Amino acid sequence: MAEHYLPENLPTHIQHYIDGKFVDSVGGETFDVLDPVSNGNYATAAAGQKADIDLAVAAATKAFTDGPWPRMKPRERARVLNRIADAVEAQEGRLAELETFDSGLPITQARGQALRAAENFRFFADLIVAQFDDAMKVPGAQINYVNRKPIGVAGLITPWNTPFMLESWKLAPALASGCTVVLKPAEFTPLSASLWATIFEDAGLPHGVFNLVNGLGEAAGDALVKHPDVPLISFTGETTTGQTIFRNAATSLKGLSMELGGKSPCVVFADADLDAAIDSALFGVFSLNGERCTAGSRILVERSVYDEFCEKYAARARNIVVGDPHDPKTEVGALVHPEHYNKVMSYVEIGKSEGRLLAGGGRPEGLDTGNYVAPTVFADVKPDARIFQEEIFGPVVAITPFENDDEALALANGVKYGLAAYIWTQNLTRAHNFAQNVEAGMVWLNSHNVRDLRTPFGGVKASGLGHEGGFRSIDFYTDQQAVHITLGTVHTPKFGASAVN
Ligand code: NAD
Repeated sequence: MAEHYLPENLPTHIQHYIDGKFVDSVGGETFDVLDPVSNGNYATAAAGQKADIDLAVAAATKAFTDGPWPRMKPRERARVLNRIADAVEAQEGRLAELETFDSGLPITQARGQALRAAENFRFFADLIVAQFDDAMKVPGAQINYVNRKPIGVAGLITPWNTPFMLESWKLAPALASGCTVVLKPAEFTPLSASLWATIFEDAGLPHGVFNLVNGLGEAAGDALVKHPDVPLISFTGETTTGQTIFRNAATSLKGLSMELGGKSPCVVFADADLDAAIDSALFGVFSLNGERCTAGSRILVERSVYDEFCEKYAARARNIVVGDPHDPKTEVGALVHPEHYNKVMSYVEIGKSEGRLLAGGGRPEGLDTGNYVAPTVFADVKPDARIFQEEIFGPVVAITPFENDDEALALANGVKYGLAAYIWTQNLTRAHNFAQNVEAGMVWLNSHNVRDLRTPFGGVKASGLGHEGGFRSIDFYTDQQAVHITLGTVHTPKFGASAVN
């Protein structure tokens, strides 16, 4: 096997970044960080506790109440955001290398993540400058307007799949809105998050506006969610974690944005362009190692093309190049962590009694160490199977046949999740009717997931609450106060003004 790739100048210790300084935990706690190819500890990271979160929230609160950031004109904030985007782009190679090393994403797919992160900052820089609010006139009586203001300290809690890019989804709109932030990145992949600190500092973001606390969800994440001075939590992660956060945020009635798990259907009708559907359905579940929330991990195929689809799809899946994430030829890399690898492998075993195994089914040949799973395809999967119902979050797909539109819709909607849906048909009427009836926050017709940053992003049912994307993200991070101005005399009933006997 090829020699284990080590990026140059790899840190051996990862710190928090609070009030403009890299620091360790107050109590000195640390946790070990593994790389997914050797599963060796390559670094320790500061493990944030309540005391560290308290310091980060205090810095963010001070930057919000006394600092310039929330008071700056949108154009001034936009200039900083554009400089951040330039810096992210300039570091594309380094970012991709670190991300690939830490998360196991194939290098060609990690490169795209840096560019997408930069684009998020550019998008929200443009949006905040163009943003305006309504003024309303009641003739002769009132003029009313909306006074929009940043809410305060936003707690941002993110998962380990495409960590840097997903952090940018929250950082860009929160900062554009004038909020200050405390970011708690995922403990499996803390490496790339510390790059933000230098990028932000160089771009001129005032100290205290961005704070980073590493650590475990149950300690650092929990303290952030329960902190009384944090009015907002934007969370991306598992549905069960989202439920815990909901409960814990109830005491202080925080604003919550929840992007949760998925088990999205990819529905292929017989009239679809089958070759295009196969390309897309392969990419839709095997890109990013299958560790993507919007993966089309249940493929529903119309009976008359089912056998042909399964045969062609499985042949291609067997041919996918699995290997060292740093090798540009690699299409599927190593799963993020041994714990996650074991979870995915346990579903592969469950699948063997729930479906007909067409491809994969375990470790790929020749890769005896590292968290590698061969792209795995199960056909004839029944809708009550666990591999049909539960999010696996790895390179494993379930294929199920259907007879007609009604059955396809019932199968598509027959899970607790509702994040995305992909529909393949040439029939316009069917496409739109299906799109409107499928229980999914986002639908793509004849395509895999291609984002337009202006559109709502989010899921329904167990896949999330609230939608971000475009102006909706700005709405989440800002209050819209209604100010009413009286133009004339207001009719006021005169309480207590009757003659006193
Ligand atoms: P996770 O829920 O285990 O962890 C996510 C984050 O929450 C981590 O930073 C973790 O430390 C923190 N956390 C854990 N327990 C916490 C607690 N009690 N209080 C506060 N914070 C806590 O999720 P994961 O395994 O890192 O990510 C994979 C999941 O994320 C999948 O379910 C996937 O579908 C989902 N995801 C959703 C989207 C989306 O936009 N809907 C995008 C990417 C990933």
